[in-house]
Amino acid sequence: MTATMPQRVTAITLPERSVFIDGSFREVDGATAAVVNPATEETIATVASVGAEIVESVLAAARRGFETWSRTSVSDRADALDRIADAMERHGAELAAIATSEIGMPIRDARAGQVDLPVRVLRSTAAIAREYPWDRRDGAGSSIVREAAGVVLAITPWNFPVHQIITKLAPALAAGCSIILKPAELTPLTALFVAALCDEAGIPRGVVNVVTGRGSVLGEALLQSRGYEVVTFTGSLAVGRHIGAVAGDAIVRATLELGGKSPAIVLADADLQTAVETTVRNCFVNAGQKCNAPTRLLVPRERTDEAAQIAARVAESYVIGDPTKESTTMGPMVSAAQRDIVSGFLGDAAEQGARIVTGGERDRWNRGFFISPAIVSNASRDSRIAVDEVFGPVLTVLGYDGEADAVTLANDSEYGLSAEVWSADPGKASAVARQIRAGQVRINGVRTPALPVSPFGGYKRSGLGRELGVFALDEFVEIKAVLGDPILDAGTGADAAVNVASGPVVRA
Ligand code: NAD
Repeated sequence: MTATMPQRVTAITLPERSVFIDGSFREVDGATAAVVNPATEETIATVASVGAEIVESVLAAARRGFETWSRTSVSDRADALDRIADAMERHGAELAAIATSEIGMPIRDARAGQVDLPVRVLRSTAAIAREYPWDRRDGAGSSIVREAAGVVLAITPWNFPVHQIITKLAPALAAGCSIILKPAELTPLTALFVAALCDEAGIPRGVVNVVTGRGSVLGEALLQSRGYEVVTFTGSLAVGRHIGAVAGDAIVRATLELGGKSPAIVLADADLQTAVETTVRNCFVNAGQKCNAPTRLLVPRERTDEAAQIAARVAESYVIGDPTKESTTMGPMVSAAQRDIVSGFLGDAAEQGARIVTGGERDRWNRGFFISPAIVSNASRDSRIAVDEVFGPVLTVLGYDGEADAVTLANDSEYGLSAEVWSADPGKASAVARQIRAGQVRINGVRTPALPVSPFGGYKRSGLGRELGVFALDEFVEIKAVLGDPILDAGTGADAAVNVASGPVVRA
């Protein structure tokens, strides 16, 4: 099954009703769900849609997996991540094709974002794990031991399906945790494919488990089971709030990666053409279905019309259509519902006096959930289109009066996931970046570095915790202080006063 699984997935002949538990795919009875290709509206697979009946067995498998995996050496676990990366590279073309058929992401973007990037996350996490301060001595002569937190419940969304799984799975596995993954309803195939890759990479039974089903049924049942030590979630604010409340009540750790309404501040001295063009392209990645998309373009008030015109030209240059074609630069929305949400936002904005400079067209295509990318101007600062997350290809241009107002406007949001600053003056860009209440600030259009280790996560309602790099690993470890540790006292003598950050690695 596992060796042939990727081929079967590629052919959209996934074993029906299968979940991955305790190291193998198991066919299960009961409800199923159709996976629909949003570009063609055709059903491409039928998967299991399990519920509460699966919870006991998957928790038991993950608990057994944890007992063995948490006792493995760090180097074994890091090597395992590299083997998953190897498998993902081997099957990269198949995986990208599945991502494209599940969410309509243009194939070029799927290769870059759903294969190349997760491979780099796996490899960089492996490297970080090898250097992580698992066991250090503090200035008081105690050992500070970092240990696997336990069983991890991971609940992921559909928009960057593989990347969002790997940003949780890689650090959890590196820490020695086992994982139960509940992917989004719309993207079960990529998740099952990742399970097959883990199997091919020789990850032991029970360490990685993937179950598919509805959030309100399976997700809720897993959440309420309280049989895990960490819950890590990426998705909407509403569901994140609920998960955080349950985790709080259960006193388990929760990391929440939620929504955004990210600003791009173009300061008066910036090159407007470059800043606007780059911001629009960044905003419209994955048809705008991106939590850190810079959806609010903040420009000096006297230049709003000029900025809107530049943005409109970029929006109109998109090649929208069949996402399997190399030349396509924008695919459909993930679902009819998502497209309708985008249309609804644009309709409301127009009613409230905003100008739809371009976009919002949906009748051009006779199948698929397409909508043309939209540029909105003249919106009031407190209107829905300027405040709420749209999660579609919509960019709103807003004018500001002076730098202080730009910062105020940028921070005037319940979210704080990401922001962009554009300036010809490095000192000024840096100073403004430090005034922004967001987990990431990108200066002059810089993109995610080849080494994806900079922390990602939100201030305010954008979430709790961080993903990527050493910060991700921190989310999956418990910290134990061993006072008067005889191993350290015997072994390190004169090093007793070293601090945690620079202390010797005693045991890897
Ligand atoms: P969603 O919150 O509806 O669903 C996310 C996941 O939660 C899915 O797997 C879903 O099945 C599950 N779920 C739903 N109800 C549940 C419940 N009661 N108990 C347990 N699990 C439940 O979000 P979505 O529509 O899949 O994704 C879009 C949203 O995700 C957007 O708001 C976007 O901003 C956000 N997002 C955030 C980030 C980030 O890193 N901050 C990344 C991508 C997407």
